[in-house]
Amino acid sequence: METKIIVTVIGHCNSLSEDFKEEFVSFLKSIPEVQVESKIELATRAQDYFLDSTLDVASLRQKVALFNCQAVDIVVQENTKFRKQKGLVVFDMDSTLIYQEVIELIAAYAQVEDLVAEITERAMNNELDFKQSLAERVKLLKGIKTATLYDDIKSKLRVTEGVPELCRGLKKSGCKLAVLSGGFAPFANHMRDTLELDYSRANVLATENDPQSGLEVLSGRTVGDIVDGECKAETLLALAKQYDVPVESTVMVGDGGNDLPAMAVAGLGIAWNAKPKVQKAASSKLNTKSLRDAFYIFGYTDAEIAELLV
Ligand SMILES: [Mg+2]
Repeated sequence: METKIIVTVIGHCNSLSEDFKEEFVSFLKSIPEVQVESKIELATRAQDYFLDSTLDVASLRQKVALFNCQAVDIVVQENTKFRKQKGLVVFDMDSTLIYQEVIELIAAYAQVEDLVAEITERAMNNELDFKQSLAERVKLLKGIKTATLYDDIKSKLRVTEGVPELCRGLKKSGCKLAVLSGGFAPFANHMRDTLELDYSRANVLATENDPQSGLEVLSGRTVGDIVDGECKAETLLALAKQYDVPVESTVMVGDGGNDLPAMAVAGLGIAWNAKPKVQKAASSKLNTKSLRDAFYIFGYTDAEIAELLV
């Protein structure tokens, strides 16, 4: 059976040259199971190729991964109406919506960088799982005054290039937006309010009253369920149900291993400047400078993006 497939090529910064485009079409045509039907220029550095293929998307993705080119991302997806009609886009927060990792900002504030780095190292060596490493890190924060901490960190958060436009445009198209973070609620909620997202969920830091100062301080523990990879996946599905949108119209955007479960259940996963392991497992990847380029993955031309953002 033939499948309608769209292959999108997105240049990281430069326009796609005519030589490159010719080379890429020849490559596609060299795949026996593929027929190149047509193409559309989305932008000078983004191009859609429409294919008929007897291979399914996953198999074609593997073949296309053999096309070796450094400065472009190549996205293979099925050509359905959900490519453009997005019902729900869920973002990871650290190193996705914002450039930083909030735990590192907090560690610097609390002057426990070395201790946090040590825990991160142990987690990377698989000595600790996500929940254990979170608990260990949060323990280090015991006694920190919340009011000054929250204000200080919020003022330091730097939103990733293209995020405000992407969120504004998607919202205008009727899409719901959420942030799901393995970090902490005050900051995820702050980003939700700043970017006018519909929903936020993150870990809740427990507080207590410092008997000496009478001020609210962190207790070194969290409250409630931990937001890990499984929780992100479950929450994405629950939100799709709540907003009454088809799962095929959902997207998970993230950079970390704990975003993969949600990417696996979503209609589309976008690995944003992610580790190689995450890029390999996700259904699409984007390694450009601006998250606004996700519009190309969704099939918008530059003119359509401009119209959406008026
Ligand atoms: Mg992240």
